Amino acid sequence: NLKGKTAIVTGSNSGIGLGVARELAKLGAQVAINSFTDREEDHALARALSEETGARVIYVQADMSDPAQCRALVTRAAEALGGADILVNNAGIQHVARIEEFPVEKWNAILAINLSSAFHTTAAALPLMRKAGWGRVINIASAHGLTASPFKSAYVAAKHGVVGLTKVTALETAEEPITANAICPGYVLTPLVEAQIPDTMEKYGMDRETVIREVLLERQPSKRFATVEQIGGVAAFLCSDAAEQITGTTISVDGGWTAL
Ligand code: NAD
Repeated sequence: NLKGKTAIVTGSNSGIGLGVARELAKLGAQVAINSFTDREEDHALARALSEETGARVIYVQADMSDPAQCRALVTRAAEALGGADILVNNAGIQHVARIEEFPVEKWNAILAINLSSAFHTTAAALPLMRKAGWGRVINIASAHGLTASPFKSAYVAAKHGVVGLTKVTALETAEEPITANAICPGYVLTPLVEAQIPDTMEKYGMDRETVIREVLLERQPSKRFATVEQIGGVAAFLCSDAAEQITGTTISVDGGWTAL
């Protein structure tokens, strides 16, 4: 039960972030969802989540590639909700290219959104967690925070960085009632992944099942996707009393990928 707790989830108008926001709201937390878009749909999504869960859900626009906006997200959400007890750093983007051809602006954007944003939001949230006497930092890293793939230099570097930042956050809060952990998903079936299936079917002349098994889930031994609900469930676990002494570590949700 997270009644009386407040949560901020970065990049949460779709996919994993939305799944985590929904799970925390279901457990009674007041939640701020975020994206950089500020469309009517984003505000409508917050209202729909609120109706669905009975919890207060607000939308706060902020671009996670901008340090000042990362910090402002925490300040504004905490002002509106009355705190920042749970911080979920989830916003992330991907780009795939060889190092020699990797566009510098893509490298910079991935490092800013996938890694630096978590530094800025954490810096803004920790004083509020200390004041409240309770806090949970949950960083959505990736199997690529623990292992690598070719052509994903920026993403793999940023996600390894997130795992490092998580450890430092845990050590700096170790004696306080605050924990910091990273969830490392393998392939999760989000709209983004779903959208790659038709193109890949065409490219390789494969049916849907073969694309999923042989291409997308090539490295996921379970041959099944994780779901956003499952990632939400792990985030909820990290907020529970059972997880009080879990800090500075990673939880893989990757169907055995990192066991290979
Ligand atoms: P997604 O594209 O559905 O979600 C990304 C979210 O980030 C969106 O809500 C988007 O609005 C937001 N976002 C992007 N740029 C932003 C910016 N500049 N400012 C604010 N918000 C921004 O993708 P997803 O699969 O749900 O990914 C969420 C996180 O999970 C990412 O960090 C990703 O690296 C990680 N992850 C995903 C998978 C997977 O298989 N889907 C696996 C491992 C890790």
